[in-house]
Formats: sequence, C-alpha cells, structure tokens
Amino acid sequence: MSDREFHCDNCEGVQPFEAPPCVDGHGADCPELVCTGCGSAVLIATFAFHAPQLAARRRPRSTHRRAA
Ligand SMILES: [Zn+2]
Ligand SMILES: [Zn+2]
Repeated sequence: MSDREFHCDNCEGVQPFEAPPCVDGHGADCPELVCTGCGSAVLIATFAFHAPQLAARRRPRSTHRRAA
C-alpha cells in the first residue's frame, strides 16, 4: 500500500491519504490521493511522488494504451 499522510481541510487534521482506484490508466503512477478519513478530499500529489526525480520523469507518454 502507498499510504501518505497530509493535512486534510475536511478532517481538520493530518490524515492518511491513499491512491484511489484509477480510471485514467495511470496505474501506480496515478498522482491522485484521497483522504481515507473523509473519503472526499482529493490531492494531486505529483510533487510528493516525483519531486526528487523531476529530471528522470521526463519520459514521453505518447502511447496511452489500456490493457484490455
Ligand atoms: Zn490516475
Ligand atoms: Zn479528510
């Protein structure tokens, strides 16, 4: 699991966030995190995922293919 803790405005405190089931085909790279406390706060966490590796992240994603 990829739990991450962030401050949630809804919960008025730090809550563990986790990646929701992704419908966009991002898979493990999905930048979205949902608050597990209220279930409604969504965080776009690209900064948390790849901040130290911005250079290595410049990979072109032209083929947006879904596994059928
Ligand atoms: Zn996604
Ligand atoms: Zn919350």
